[in-house]
Amino acid sequence: MKKYASPSKWKDLFVFDAHCDTACVLFDPPVSFVRNPAHLDLQKIRKGGLQAQIFALWVDPLLAPQRAMKKALLLLQNMEKKVFAPKHAIKVTSLAGMDAAVRQKKLAAWLFLEGGHIIENSPEILHIFYSLGVRGMTLTHSKNTDWADSTTDTPRHQGLNALGRRIVRQMAEMGMAIDVSHASDKTIAHVLKTTAVPVMASHSNSRELCAIPRNLTDDFIRAIAKRRGFIGVNFCPAFVLRRVFDQIEANFARYAKEIKERTRGKLDDPEFLSQIEWEYFLRSVAGTDPVGLDDIVDHIVHIAAIGGIDCVGLGSDFDGIPSTPTGLRNAAAFPALVAAMQKRGFREAEIRKVCALNLRRFLGRVLVEK
Ligand SMILES: [Zn+2]
Repeated sequence: MKKYASPSKWKDLFVFDAHCDTACVLFDPPVSFVRNPAHLDLQKIRKGGLQAQIFALWVDPLLAPQRAMKKALLLLQNMEKKVFAPKHAIKVTSLAGMDAAVRQKKLAAWLFLEGGHIIENSPEILHIFYSLGVRGMTLTHSKNTDWADSTTDTPRHQGLNALGRRIVRQMAEMGMAIDVSHASDKTIAHVLKTTAVPVMASHSNSRELCAIPRNLTDDFIRAIAKRRGFIGVNFCPAFVLRRVFDQIEANFARYAKEIKERTRGKLDDPEFLSQIEWEYFLRSVAGTDPVGLDDIVDHIVHIAAIGGIDCVGLGSDFDGIPSTPTGLRNAAAFPALVAAMQKRGFREAEIRKVCALNLRRFLGRVLVEK
């Protein structure tokens, strides 16, 4: 087994990350993809060895039902304009396309939808997004859709309803990755019953290590791994340590009165409400306990121990999280995570699987290449 002299000399580090919200950062307020103060830009990509990335077109569920699809299309158009047209990255829809982009030393960019509310209950709209290059969808975000329950909302359907099962089957047939991050336990159980294809949780951690509903139980880790699915470890400190989650919740609750005052008379302006919510999440992380690289590695170790080394990968959630772990501040820091994994005893072949190969193989099993 090859031994690395030092991760900084690891020239052929291949990182393929399963989730970021950079499409939103590039949209509002508008910043450059070449260089920006957020988590992911061209410079950080090069430094971090990031060669392929799944970009989520995330739309706040507050914009549903009437404005969500429009927002997703605007995000996509903005990606075309700022990222794909100037060839900073190449939009890919197949493994061959990804390999070609990597050979050209360009970032291979996959597009996913984040939040089933975006398709407005319409399998036809899902087809349209497919034709625009979208190859996966997170079934819900933080709120239930009309056909699937979210893990952070009051159950409405007890999982998937008939339309939800139809959409999941359609995704499997089309060769779109079914992403269960944010979905409720019952929704995940229904997905696993509805289809036999491999599924992913693009940015979810272990509930055993951080007991919040947003993370995966060992049973789900086992079930996803058994059908050769994929789980991307999320860097969000609140999803890594329960203590930090509780601190953020408590801080956020303290702002309740202030939020109510600022949003009075503006409850019919979802964009404004969404901005305010984010602003207070950013404020709520102040003073919370630090989360380190080793805490992230703990989740990788646990998921690998339960589901095997072939199911686990990275789902950073960069540009979608209000704070980051110490030593893992942005996409330039992937080599530091590799070093932390080496220190923990992961072998080269295992690190390569976690950094990129597991996600690549998962997509290869799911995509129906045309
Ligand atoms: Zn998310």
